Amino acid sequence: MPRLAVIGHPVAHTRSPGMQTAALAELGLAGEWTYGAIDVEPRNFEVEVAELAAAGDYAGVNVTLPHKEAALAIADEASAGARAIGAANTLTFSDGRIAAANTDAGGVLRSLPAGIGGGRALVFGAGGAARAAIWALAHGGEGAPDEDGAPTRVPPFQVDVWNRTAARAAAVAAELGGRPVADPVAADYALLVNTTSVGLHGEDPFALLPLAAAELHPSQVVFDIVYGPQPSALLAAAEAAGATTVDGLEMLVQQGAISLRIWTGEEPSLEAMRTGARR
Ligand code: NAP
Repeated sequence: MPRLAVIGHPVAHTRSPGMQTAALAELGLAGEWTYGAIDVEPRNFEVEVAELAAAGDYAGVNVTLPHKEAALAIADEASAGARAIGAANTLTFSDGRIAAANTDAGGVLRSLPAGIGGGRALVFGAGGAARAAIWALAHGGEGAPDEDGAPTRVPPFQVDVWNRTAARAAAVAAELGGRPVADPVAADYALLVNTTSVGLHGEDPFALLPLAAAELHPSQVVFDIVYGPQPSALLAAAEAAGATTVDGLEMLVQQGAISLRIWTGEEPSLEAMRTGARR
């Protein structure tokens, strides 16, 4: 029976097991596949993952904070996205070998509404989540399936990057395909993406990010990848302004769906995953 799990530290509050188990059940694989959670301290990560890969009963794992860079480092092979971003959240084990992928990047693109792309995007943040978002938006790629289930493509955006620590924005933008900005005019962008941790504990985005609620408007998409209490203050203001909103749970679902597709070869039900993640 192939096993799957999410590895993190801490991992107790993860929504991934509920979400992935719901998807496996909907695919009719619940009797064959299991998805759990394993708390691994950073100093034990390499040894424990090597043991899981060698043992043969695990098909793969998701990897979350603080192990995403270590997950890439331990892999025998890695996708182009994982290598460019410098981190992996999905490991696949086969014959003792470890393959790494970064499905956060694809998760960003598949969370976007149909038809968007090619315009200007502003990313707030320069941490790990920002790296995946900037690379994905600057390169484009597979979007959410259309109404008939056919794949769609998101064209590359022109990506501007703002970060509290400006030097990090400059470094990350240069590396991943964006342009650093110090004083952006939020109203000018088709897409705003908050990848900072602002909002996770109720912080005010309009006090901490270069953004006023009055700048938000109906032809924008506002994406807040933080998944604290929903809707976040940013998304509540965006919705009030008539903008299209995307929340962090949708990204969690989309990145998880890509991981499950890598391991099982099946396209999971997003609806089942949304229900499982929100439970
Ligand atoms: P990280 O690497 O620690 O980066 C944190 C970012 O937030 C940095 O850009 C930091 O700016 C900024 N920041 C922190 N406090 C700030 C403040 N008071 N004002 C302005 N900027 C502030 O973290 P991460 O891994 O990128 O994760 C960021 C968030 O994304 C977390 O809330 C995480 O849960 C969420 N996330 C969600 C998903 C999903 O699937 N939905 C996936 C991954 C991550 P400085 O550089 O100036 O410190």
